[in-house]
Amino acid sequence: TVPAFNTLAVECVAAPDAALLPRVPGLPDEMFQSDGTMTKQEVRAATLAKLMPMRGALLWDIGSGCGSVAIEWMRGARHTRAIGIEPRPDRRALAAANALALGTPRLELIDGTVPQALTGLEPPDAIFIGGGLSHQTLDAAWEALRPLGRLVANAVTLESEAILLELNKKYGGQLVKLQISRAAPVGPRTGWRPLMPVTQWSLVK
Ligand code: SAH
Repeated sequence: TVPAFNTLAVECVAAPDAALLPRVPGLPDEMFQSDGTMTKQEVRAATLAKLMPMRGALLWDIGSGCGSVAIEWMRGARHTRAIGIEPRPDRRALAAANALALGTPRLELIDGTVPQALTGLEPPDAIFIGGGLSHQTLDAAWEALRPLGRLVANAVTLESEAILLELNKKYGGQLVKLQISRAAPVGPRTGWRPLMPVTQWSLVK
């Protein structure tokens, strides 16, 4: 379904500057309000590349935090929709503020924990798991994913990386390790400051 013109007009009024920003994912981290637990720019860009926003498509953003992945999904193609699932009210508030500021006020935010919160949601075209990873969550998500849908899960901890290895053996797909370092001052000189490495598992249904 195509939203009415007035819905689009409200987006432009809500965030006039957002219309000037690129639609290509990988917005600077500073464009998002966050408490630090956010998917960083380079990893976000690689994640959106695998999720492949398409016209009219629906994303489930599981463990949506400050909403950065869902917001870039919605910016990435016209009439996209996204449901963010996040149990922490402070992070849902950040996501709502970010969505308004970046021109995607129709981001839907659900208070809940997975796998329970997935029951009854509209089947998605793509699923991102940034938190709440478990075998039960993956099984429920995979079941609901529409044909040719894309699933991406990012892990920072060894515990969730271990789950991704098991899931990769069970379902197939690709495992990728993203290790980003940013140059930063070390006294008068410059050194590489590593971000936490992210293990990324992705597959197409
Ligand atoms: N992708 C987010 C960062 C997510 S951090 C961003 O870019 O901002 C992981 C998030 O998963 C946290 O906010 C945490 O509250 C949430 N989380 C942890 N367990 C969860 C569960 N079982 N269900 C839903 N969310 C969960």
